[in-house]
Amino acid sequence: MQKKFSTQLIHTGDKFAPSVSYSKTIPIVQTSVFAFDDVESLEQVYDGSAGGHIYTRNGNPVHDALNDIVSGAEEGEAALSYSSGMAAISLSIIAQVKAGDHIIAANVLYGGSFQFIKTELARFDVSVSFVDTVRESINPYFRPNTRAVYVETISNPMMEVINLQAIAETTHRHGAKLIVDNSFATPVICQPLLLGADIVVYSATKYLGGHSDVTAGVVVSDRENIDRIYTSGLLFGPTLSPFDAWLLVRSLRTLELRIRQHSLNALKLAEYFAGHPQIKTVYYPGLPSSPTYNVARRLFHNDLFGGMLSIDLAGGEHHAYELLRLLETVKFVPSLAGVATSTSYPAKTSHRALNDDELQKAGISKGLIRISTGLENIDDVIEEFDKTLGKIGKKQ
Ligand SMILES: *Cc1c(COP(=O)(O)O)cnc(C)c1O
Repeated sequence: MQKKFSTQLIHTGDKFAPSVSYSKTIPIVQTSVFAFDDVESLEQVYDGSAGGHIYTRNGNPVHDALNDIVSGAEEGEAALSYSSGMAAISLSIIAQVKAGDHIIAANVLYGGSFQFIKTELARFDVSVSFVDTVRESINPYFRPNTRAVYVETISNPMMEVINLQAIAETTHRHGAKLIVDNSFATPVICQPLLLGADIVVYSATKYLGGHSDVTAGVVVSDRENIDRIYTSGLLFGPTLSPFDAWLLVRSLRTLELRIRQHSLNALKLAEYFAGHPQIKTVYYPGLPSSPTYNVARRLFHNDLFGGMLSIDLAGGEHHAYELLRLLETVKFVPSLAGVATSTSYPAKTSHRALNDDELQKAGISKGLIRISTGLENIDDVIEEFDKTLGKIGKKQ
């Protein structure tokens, strides 16, 4: 019988199935929910005896593809992806603690992570000790109720690399878990799980995505931790859209190529700045002048040190503002890791919550500019910086 108009609109193409040929790329499974032929099939998916999906907040085939790629790259057992880096970070920490617990965290962290640990966790009676993990041992800060240690592979904006192996060893001696934000390094440069970390978290918004068009987060760990985080994630609910997961799958195909080029470009740019009279200090872990150069050499793969560097202008705040204003293709962008080289001003962006005293303690001067090196031919970027530096401090 011919179905009526609205029924046709709703049911035509119901059993969309490929023939002997199939999509070369993974399809975007843009659905909030999955259909079953009978109750038995639903039961089988719930109890795990059959593969399948139920509801996209619980999981989606595009999430699976993304999670498999990232956990494979990290050599972890499993991964989960969320709608932002902060979702992956907050869930990874929440899954480890309860009221009355204590954690240790690096004193220099991404602003959102710092705020989450300091203010949100405090509301749930989880206390924190912030430690300079580059210069100090974390050992004296452990308490009987310390459950986790939270650090970043490369600190922002001073680009210092922490000794993950030593920190992992101390953390495990006290029966706690080490959580590492590896967003600046990516698994191309550093694989924290292989150095002893328990959980690796990502703002996939940055290099995993790499094109400044997706907001997402990923966490990689062993099965047990992932199961715990999964339960929290299911209930807090920061679900990644299937389309954004698909964009990340596409991005990850070229991760190694991109990170290699970001790193080679950043090293050349850092070397150029190191010889420039208007630059007081260059902060880049790949320069032998970096206080953590040797740690980086030991922990990082293939002598790659990432795309992020900072420069301290001898002319201070005034010259920094002028440089940001006069650069042309290099845009002032309060984020990082895109294909185009961009700048940021930590004192007014990532670290604007700090007062002058705290800024000084963190080494963030008013002349400090952070640079996210892109994938251009770096000679053009160097020429642009050179021309622009030549103009600043002069009457126009
Ligand atoms: C951007 C960033 C985050 C936060 O990620 P979102 O995707 O913005 O939520 C966390 N850690 C680091 C190191 C970052 O750069």
